[in-house]
Amino acid sequence: MSNEISFKKELICNFGFPVWDNPTEAMIEAAFEHHQMRFRYVTTEVTADNLKAAFEGVKAMGYKGFNCTIPHKVAIIKYLDGLGESADLMEAVNCVVEREGRYIGENTDGKGFLESLQSVSKPKGKKVVILGAGGAARAVSVELALSEVKDIVIVNRSKERGEGLIDLLKRKTSVPVQLILWKGDYQIPPDTDIVINCTSIGLSPNVVRVPVVTETLKKGMVVCDLIVNPPYTPFLAEAEAHGCTILDGLGMLVNQGKIAIKYWSGVEVDSLSCEKN
Ligand code: NDP
Repeated sequence: MSNEISFKKELICNFGFPVWDNPTEAMIEAAFEHHQMRFRYVTTEVTADNLKAAFEGVKAMGYKGFNCTIPHKVAIIKYLDGLGESADLMEAVNCVVEREGRYIGENTDGKGFLESLQSVSKPKGKKVVILGAGGAARAVSVELALSEVKDIVIVNRSKERGEGLIDLLKRKTSVPVQLILWKGDYQIPPDTDIVINCTSIGLSPNVVRVPVVTETLKKGMVVCDLIVNPPYTPFLAEAEAHGCTILDGLGMLVNQGKIAIKYWSGVEVDSLSCEKN
């Protein structure tokens, strides 16, 4: 056995722009430290123009993988060696994993949300309203469709993005779906079981209300908000005041991070270690 000390650590990073306000590094580094893993995670500012060069750099330096956030979740796909099942279904990648020299795109957002949701509701057979049709809404709606929810209503401001998500769900899943174009305050149908804010409305520093008719938030509904900064959003406060069960975005954030660490290292980390920072 060798007595030599290795200074080498496995490297992971996060591609995004802007990315300075993304809290993932604090969470993942806390888990690495707690579990005494020889890994480092670095937040990396990568503009759209530099995505290919940044990916080539990561490959040359033998990184074990990286996260992709705004605006790279779809653009990265053309450079990768393959896609895992969820990323293939969602046509979006938030986590890239090196496997025997091949860089494979995964999507852990939807699974992270689902695990969090299961602490307050079982999605099978439920009627769901999703506010928004961006990357997060894609991940959440595909994962809910795979969990056999009864139906999904997508409520979105722009027609193009809304239709894009409806088209994806129709092509890739068998869930009944409907698009509502968002104008003014949206009235949540009374038979809705789960409402999920997947828009960026409410994100700090623009902590503003989600335009829904608050009286249509009813006791018995589960109301979720993906925003993590601040986690207790005005939307969740209104829902709680109307007797709904609420779920913030922190559980999703931690869960998708845990799944990513397992992909990169094989190590199953505990949630508390991620929440330390
Ligand atoms: P995108 O930019 O892809 O999508 C944003 C969505 O929000 C679009 O549907 C957009 O509608 C809608 N939207 C934005 N502003 C308004 C507005 N004023 N009125 C109505 N609709 C609006 O972002 P993502 O889907 O990637 O992320 C959305 C949010 O989810 C982020 O802010 C992030 O904080 C959160 N998130 C949380 C995670 C977690 O782990 N908790 C993980 C991933 C994301 P339109 O098409 O009309 O522009």
